Amino acid sequence: FLTACEGKFAPNPIESREPLQEEDTVIEEKIKIGFSMDTLEEERWPKDRDLFKQAVEDLGTEVVIREAKGDDALQIVQAETLISEGIDLLVIVPHNAEAVATIVKKAHSAGIKVISYDRLVKNSSIDLYISFDNELVGELQAKAITKLVPKGKYAYIGGANTDNNAHLIKKGVFNVLQPLIDKGDIQVVYDQWTENWSPENARLNMEAALKINNNEIDAIIAANDSTAGGVIEALAAQGLAGKIPVAGQDADLAAAQRIVEGIQTLTIYKPIRTLAYEAATAAVQMAKGEVIVTDRKINNGKLDIPSLLLPPIAVDKNNMDETIIADGFHSRQDVYKNI
Ligand code: BGC
Repeated sequence: FLTACEGKFAPNPIESREPLQEEDTVIEEKIKIGFSMDTLEEERWPKDRDLFKQAVEDLGTEVVIREAKGDDALQIVQAETLISEGIDLLVIVPHNAEAVATIVKKAHSAGIKVISYDRLVKNSSIDLYISFDNELVGELQAKAITKLVPKGKYAYIGGANTDNNAHLIKKGVFNVLQPLIDKGDIQVVYDQWTENWSPENARLNMEAALKINNNEIDAIIAANDSTAGGVIEALAAQGLAGKIPVAGQDADLAAAQRIVEGIQTLTIYKPIRTLAYEAATAAVQMAKGEVIVTDRKINNGKLDIPSLLLPPIAVDKNNMDETIIADGFHSRQDVYKNI
């Protein structure tokens, strides 16, 4: 007890004549959360950054944010620095699902718990995974497109092979397509990952898909709205934009505009505010030593990870107003700007 009173918590003998309030005696340092982000490239990530920061600060705690610009080595160094600077908990959006497992080990040796944000860290003993239900994202995309095109030739433009979400989304898409493929109704005539989710790589993929198939493609599912943007550029170059259904995901403003203009069919809207809020709340609770109980567990190749998976929402031109716009995700004016 004596040693405990010798440090900064020792009451000043003069002041201690007054009855002490708790806040006078305990000068607690603010909890500090580290947020290691892969990239700010797609439109969604600056929103994640700002909403997460806001949510953490609203809980009376601090956040330190680092962006790795799609570089695995840099993400590892940045996370190590956060750990050595004394964060109480690390929240990570991995660029590469496997490569950052090393960070989880380092954090744990320093007594710091780690939350996987949006993307799962594979083969590691990550403490919590918070995301949207990515398999459902793919299922929603494929359900909407197969309703419009129940028979024909499909192209699948996947996300980054290094991102576990890209695999989950693809699994969801094929959960819906496979029975139709087995029946002979649908043929998948092109299926490729898109390095780093870049629109440029997606455009090159789509150009190849069109070339190989003499432009005879009836439907396209792209893993997100950036890749859908690249796909639509390739279609436009062949005079096919708006003639072939295209699915994307993220509810990027450009995609919402393309939907109301009729050149993209649908997107999947994921309310990021909820994700950021849930992650911030869990992060602060865990930093205080509380245990988070979840209904679901997702296996990451090593362990069943307690997981919170939020529901995504399919949006086309018919429900644009009551979803993306009603939520204030984008303004009506912005979405309908080109109409
Ligand atoms: C996210 C998507 C995002 C993509 C590219 C995925 O892990 O779930 O929302 O578009 O990464 O950044």
